[in-house]
Amino acid sequence: MSTAKSNVTPMMAQYLEIKAAHPDALLFYRMGDFYEMFFDDAVAAAEALDIALTKRGKHEGNEIPMCGVPHHAAEGYFLTLIRKGFRVAVCEQMESPAEAKKRGYKAVVKREVVRLVTPGTLTEDSLLDARRHNFLAAYHVVRDQGALAWVDISTGAFHVMTCPGTMLGPELARLTPKELIVVDGSEADWAGLVSDSGATMTTLGAAAFDSSAGEKRLCNLYKIGSLDAFGKFGRPEIAAMSAVVEYLEITQKGNLPLLRPPVLEGQSAGMQIDAATRKSLELTQAIGGGRQGSLLHCIDRTVTAGGARLLERRLSSPSCTLSVISGRQDSVAFLVEQSRLTADIQDHLRGVYDLDRALSRLALDRGGPRDMAAVRNTLGQAISLAEALPDAMPNLLSTAAKDLTGHDRLLDLLDQALIAEPPLLARDGGFIAPGYDEELDEVRTLRDEGRSVIANMQAQYAELSGVQSLKIKHNNVLGYFIETTATHAEKMMAAPLSETFIHRQTTANQVRFTTVELSEIETRILNAGGRALEIEKRLYSSITEAIIAQAGPLGALARALAEIDLAAALSHLAVAENWVRPKVDDSRAFEITGGRHPVVEAALQKDGAPFVANDCGLTDASIWLLTGPNMAGKSTFLRQNALLAVLAQMGSFVPANEAHIGIVSQIFSRVGASDDLARGRSTFMVEMVETAAILNQANDRALVILDEIGRGTATYDGLSIAWATLEHLHDVNRCRALFATHYHEMSALSAKLDGVENATVSVKEWEGDVIFLHEVKRGTADRSYGVQVARLAGLPPVVVERAKVVLDALEKGEREGGSSSKAIIDDLPLFAATPAPVTTPEPSSAVEDKLKDVLPDELTPKEALALVYELRDLL
Ligand code: ADP
Repeated sequence: MSTAKSNVTPMMAQYLEIKAAHPDALLFYRMGDFYEMFFDDAVAAAEALDIALTKRGKHEGNEIPMCGVPHHAAEGYFLTLIRKGFRVAVCEQMESPAEAKKRGYKAVVKREVVRLVTPGTLTEDSLLDARRHNFLAAYHVVRDQGALAWVDISTGAFHVMTCPGTMLGPELARLTPKELIVVDGSEADWAGLVSDSGATMTTLGAAAFDSSAGEKRLCNLYKIGSLDAFGKFGRPEIAAMSAVVEYLEITQKGNLPLLRPPVLEGQSAGMQIDAATRKSLELTQAIGGGRQGSLLHCIDRTVTAGGARLLERRLSSPSCTLSVISGRQDSVAFLVEQSRLTADIQDHLRGVYDLDRALSRLALDRGGPRDMAAVRNTLGQAISLAEALPDAMPNLLSTAAKDLTGHDRLLDLLDQALIAEPPLLARDGGFIAPGYDEELDEVRTLRDEGRSVIANMQAQYAELSGVQSLKIKHNNVLGYFIETTATHAEKMMAAPLSETFIHRQTTANQVRFTTVELSEIETRILNAGGRALEIEKRLYSSITEAIIAQAGPLGALARALAEIDLAAALSHLAVAENWVRPKVDDSRAFEITGGRHPVVEAALQKDGAPFVANDCGLTDASIWLLTGPNMAGKSTFLRQNALLAVLAQMGSFVPANEAHIGIVSQIFSRVGASDDLARGRSTFMVEMVETAAILNQANDRALVILDEIGRGTATYDGLSIAWATLEHLHDVNRCRALFATHYHEMSALSAKLDGVENATVSVKEWEGDVIFLHEVKRGTADRSYGVQVARLAGLPPVVVERAKVVLDALEKGEREGGSSSKAIIDDLPLFAATPAPVTTPEPSSAVEDKLKDVLPDELTPKEALALVYELRDLL
């Protein structure tokens, strides 16, 4: 035997064995009230968590690095580690030290990893955004057929869809899963897509994706004979679902969450919106990240977490099915007419808890009495909500209303069993209501009587000893004890009192005693207390079982509450913001009267500025070519029309006076240019890649929005690319489109192409300044006003004046025809000879002289700092 081996303590040997089974996770090793990490894990965790790195003992002659976190605060640490890309294996003590001792003097407490914490498998409220889904997804390809499965283990929602590789990007953009599982060895194929979506990639061996074994695994899970019960799944779908289930088994250590039956999603059911479009339209996330500033944030009036998650889902995948859209619109319209009812519904819903998540925690044994109370209170609230709803309602609402009731037995049980406000954890008991279990009531009485006997004993002992200040206290080490000051203690330690009072401990100022009687009563209290706890634990399990047995109907209830919440929220929004029901049909219409951009409008409202509503009509001419100066409102107009289509097809009312939209099956938006330096692409390259995607994919049901295509390159290149792109959209894609450009030359295209109409955002010129009217009207812009905008932006007056001169010369040259820009430029009076600028320059100062010679691009930061000092000295 090697000496190194013999030096390993039994505990360290256990640690090393467990760690070897979890090489790619940080092992949180439970030691009493702490989780401790050792070796490289400790070094990595100490750095990531910014906690102290210490040492504990030696291993093979070297000191063992160690760090630790208190177990009650572990959740916060999990989150930090996960955000930094780690996975955590949580290793718990499976017995008490006392139990271990029974097995032998040196026996190590049994420990096991009970859970792997990964981004896609969180369930704790504190780690999750209540208003967002937390999806774990798996993608797999079987013989060129791809499928994507995804689950939210915090709610149990499980979905799967056919998904060719080309669609994976858009689907990941729609779902934004936190974690994606792929088969070992295929990481490189998906790395780019996955990192774009912000998900963490996890790999599993090919066995996890085996479709035949997977089918059995799924049938066992749902206790069914054939998967056909849930729909027609192909091999890739089964493989992807199977990997999800396998991964849950691995991470939850067999404690499977409550998975709802898988729902097969049709590929064509929703409006297709690719990642770039989602980003530029800021549907659920603002460009800067975060929810604030997104359409979702702006329109969210839901009052429950489940409703908020449903809104996010709907907004992320607007429907293309007319009956679905009109069904949803009907319920919003119904409630719009009844604002009292809507307010009433929202009041009831405010008392509802996150049923999905409470259920899932209970199923995973990570819940507590408070989750049970959440179920109870929600059931009660659902009944009163059902009573508040009228009998005659549109289909969606009346179907939902039916699922609100019918849980009386469970509600009765929970009502009787639980106290009004139970504690978070079952561990310390005290959550079962009196009167529910006879035996529990008995032992509780025994325990409480013991306590009151002790309270009386204090008075007796004070009298007996003549020490009036004597107290009976309790702590975890000594249990109950009698405490007195050192001065009085002497008397109690002498006969005859010493026969009754047995000395236990002397502290700095106090002396502590016990008596035979006191310890007897203590034992009785302890026994009764322990017994009460045991009974409560048993009742806890049986109540959990009763709840889980109702998981199906409770899931339906949660869906119903979310559906009603969303309908109420959208109608509340429609009434408050003056939105209308859009007419959606299968025509190719796109007629908007008085349309508004909800997010910009809300932002302007804060400053008290009005938003100018604008019309848009793409029915006769399917493409609008929009010109107008920068800052006039072109991008706002473009996006607002795309958002109207999204809102209309998710079933909402829209911010307009009137809207008629023929189903839009795809939306493409290319607005503004941004560098994607992370992937080594220039602005222009990104722009071209995205434009190519649009031209290759857009069909005649698409709505395309292109803003300033070709801006990223030289004028003529840009103009030609924009020109050709517009022709392609018109002739080949034949889609509806809004095309904004600053190339006025393109307005000529409308004469050539039937389906192209010119539009412009009007501005007024007043005393040399431009005033933006933000009004979109048919026609072309008379000029670009770039010079005026530059002046508004604060360009020095000398430069503005000079630019005007150059512009005049260029325009004159163009009007008179012929002269090349080179000739015009040659003819221009020299800059220095420009007629007196608006402000007469003052004689230059020493600072100005110094600054004139500076070439900022060539300065290092240090030199720049030195220069600032030098300039200050010149003042
Ligand atoms: P462009 O794309 O023409 O440069 P933007 O669409 O970015 O212009 O709009 C510039 C600013 O003008 C916006 O930030 C907004 O504050 C304001 N604006 C745009 N459209 C409107 C409108 N219809 N009504 C009121 N203000 C608007």
